[in-house]
Amino acid sequence: MAVEVTWDKNVCIHSGNCVKTLPQVFKVENGKFVIDPRAAEEDKVRKTVAACPSGALRIKE
Ligand code: SF4
Repeated sequence: MAVEVTWDKNVCIHSGNCVKTLPQVFKVENGKFVIDPRAAEEDKVRKTVAACPSGALRIKE
């Protein structure tokens, strides 16, 4: 089962790191930010979440 990723829009500083690193997982669709954790290996998703500079992204264990 894929990990669940949560995003806090009030914390996000829109650096774009996540979208640039894993565009297949973190993307904007119809003006809304969506996360599809199944679109990449769990390891890569975890690394991208850990690299979020604001802490807006979290893995829900
Ligand atoms: S990496 Fe973090 S701060 Fe940057 S856009 Fe993504 S969620 Fe927002």
